[in-house]
Amino acid sequence: MDFAANLSAIQQRIAAACARAGRDPASVTLLAVSKGQPPEAVRAAAEAGQTLFGENKVQEGKIKISLCPGRLHWHFIGHLQSNKCRDAVRCFSMIESVDSLALTEEINKWAGQSAKSMPVLLEVNVAGEATKFGFTPDRLLAELEQINAFPKIEIHGLMTIAPWSPEPERARAVFRRLRELKESCDEILGAPLLQLSMGMSGDFEVAIEEGATLVRVGTALFGARQKVKRAEEEGGGDTFVAEG
Ligand SMILES: *Cc1c(COP(=O)(O)O)cnc(C)c1O
Repeated sequence: MDFAANLSAIQQRIAAACARAGRDPASVTLLAVSKGQPPEAVRAAAEAGQTLFGENKVQEGKIKISLCPGRLHWHFIGHLQSNKCRDAVRCFSMIESVDSLALTEEINKWAGQSAKSMPVLLEVNVAGEATKFGFTPDRLLAELEQINAFPKIEIHGLMTIAPWSPEPERARAVFRRLRELKESCDEILGAPLLQLSMGMSGDFEVAIEEGATLVRVGTALFGARQKVKRAEEEGGGDTFVAEG
């Protein structure tokens, strides 16, 4: 796996998608999804120039972050349980996967205790999949002002995960709907939200054509994920090992 080569290929595809959509490539930020990858992979990615990473488990992220260069930025992108909010607020610079009013309240509480504001994205279950977390579009619009009223919560935008399909075009309607929802949110808030986090390895180009400002790419950058766990759980110290 050559991260630098993968990175430059993805950057070229981002630039081409931007050209098709008449967008400035600088308007799209690439988040490298490092879940399931060991800290060495993140360090190699950092050497290739990647600075933004995403994790979907608080404990895995917390350990990995402590083993990686301090200048990197980390977003939380997984379902967050309320008992993990405290660590999530401390370890991550953005929580992209805020999926309920109750969770927002909990994040607000811990951000207040850390005397900081927490940038968040609101996750929307656009396609209404039973297996996915996220606000329904109706609930998002109904609860947006309440969410915005929490003093330590900074709403930066919306996030979605499209239903899995081998055909990226099938995600287009979902991405378009998220952009339209953002426009409705902008009207309610009276100011534009800046971020639309949508698109993964299989569908990020379509997402960019539909307005994504953040694309979350894992396997197309790092290759297949390993199941990682702390070797320490087996008495091996604070490092990651593949589960095999
Ligand atoms: C795993 C994950 C990704 C990256 O998926 P790939 O298909 O490996 O690019 C993006 N977003 C979220 C929320 C994820 O959990």
